[in-house]
Amino acid sequence: MMASAGQQFIAGKRRPGGSAEQMSVTNPATGEVLATDTLASPEDVHEAVTAARHAFGDWSRTTPAERAEAMLRWADLLQARGEELAATESRIGGKPIKLARGFDIPGVIDNVRFFAGAARNLEGRSAGEYSGEHTSSIRREPLGVIGSIAPWNYPLQMAAWKVLPAVAAGNTVVLKPSELTPLTSVMFAEAAGEAGIPDGVINVVTGTGATAGHALVSHPDIAMVSFTGSTAVGRQVAATAAGDVKRVHLELGGKAPFVVFEDADLEAAARGAVAGALINSGQDCTAATRAYVHRTRYEAFVARVAELMDGVRLGPVDDPDTDMGSLISFGQRDRVAAMVDRAREGGATVVRGGRIPGGPLSRGAYYEPTLITGAAQDSEIVQQEIFGPVLVCLPFDTDDDAIRLANDTPYGLAASAWTGSVFRAQRASRDIQAGCVWINDHIPIISEMPHGGYKASGFGKDMSAYSFEDYTNVKHVMSETTGAPRKSWHDLVFTSG
Ligand code: NAD
Repeated sequence: MMASAGQQFIAGKRRPGGSAEQMSVTNPATGEVLATDTLASPEDVHEAVTAARHAFGDWSRTTPAERAEAMLRWADLLQARGEELAATESRIGGKPIKLARGFDIPGVIDNVRFFAGAARNLEGRSAGEYSGEHTSSIRREPLGVIGSIAPWNYPLQMAAWKVLPAVAAGNTVVLKPSELTPLTSVMFAEAAGEAGIPDGVINVVTGTGATAGHALVSHPDIAMVSFTGSTAVGRQVAATAAGDVKRVHLELGGKAPFVVFEDADLEAAARGAVAGALINSGQDCTAATRAYVHRTRYEAFVARVAELMDGVRLGPVDDPDTDMGSLISFGQRDRVAAMVDRAREGGATVVRGGRIPGGPLSRGAYYEPTLITGAAQDSEIVQQEIFGPVLVCLPFDTDDDAIRLANDTPYGLAASAWTGSVFRAQRASRDIQAGCVWINDHIPIISEMPHGGYKASGFGKDMSAYSFEDYTNVKHVMSETTGAPRKSWHDLVFTSG
């Protein structure tokens, strides 16, 4: 077990939580306990919010260049600790070390560098004399203390997506990571302090949603709640935040369609579907979950996906050759298994997988890569988020059907269209209701471009310059330019004198 100094980081100090509740962070691929700590109490949350409120005055008045310089030092420190961060991220999430090394950690470091640059590009549109008698200008101001709540699937990336635009814009933050995966979030915040970001600007409270999460969302000194997690919890968070008219930013669940038109490159689509469905054991809000394939290509597509799935290597997460690790917990594995079982009982065909592996892997929360056909469009397995390594394939006949089916779930986070036709690609990108539509790929993200949902997948954008919209207030400043005591518009109210 790692020596643990606690999973709270408040006003620049790491310490245990003040509640009586204990929680162990385990490696779900092995069951090994990595750290055991007491969780945050509502008083810890209050202390963290107070620290962030005190830090706000000075931090919000730093220049963009000062913030950017500190963030660039932070990125360098994270880079120097990249291997330690990757190993920890891999163990707390049960994810293959090659994914943590090649995606999670470099993605976070690039994000820090992007937001360091973006801090210096935060400008108003041009000032001007719109009434003829006033100069109008725009100020973009930080909001105050941001309460950020993150899920367990990409613990550090999700924390970074919340924290970085907030602090780059001059806000201060209290982050609540998932109590299952706090270790790298605390390391991230500690590194910020070492890079010169003052105490109290970034605080971490590790606790349950019901205690620490609720205390954060309902705290009167929080200006905005930035939440990434399930749609069900997002609804509760929005309802609580509505009490104080807090701004909310919600990145919620997904059920991404993967549309393979008749003119698609089948090999590219099949490879894209396997990678898009199995990345992070399918625990990805944008994972390819529903492949709709033109009937003339359907059989060949299913056969090739099945063949490629057979080659995916499940194994220990610290083995660089492992392709797929475990799920986050036995509970999550059993939830996925139960959904697959219900689909099977409902008449769907499980073409590959659909089982908990035996042998040494049974020590961890592993589930086989699973391919399902013959499910009804209105069934649970097609409509609800699975968050596991499960791809459902269904045929379609016309382009209209494909678009209709793609849009036929409550979610709208991401989608992809596979085609050689520029017209089909344009139509899919116009008509699919999702925050991101990939053409001939599925999954890649970049710091410069926004990530966020439509429909029950939420609203607000992570990454990119667009996220500044969410973490700042726009203020209009209107200065009278004539200096005359009597203004023409006064006549609308009185004319004497
Ligand atoms: P979850 O909704 O159960 O929990 C998310 C976070 O909210 C956790 O930190 C949890 O402790 C906290 N929480 C729970 N109840 C709370 C409450 N009442 N008040 C305040 N906070 C509370 O989600 P999860 O299981 O950790 O993560 C998986 C979900 O996250 C999936 O639905 C996935 O699609 C979604 N997700 C979305 C995105 C996106 O960008 N849209 C990215 C990653 C994950």
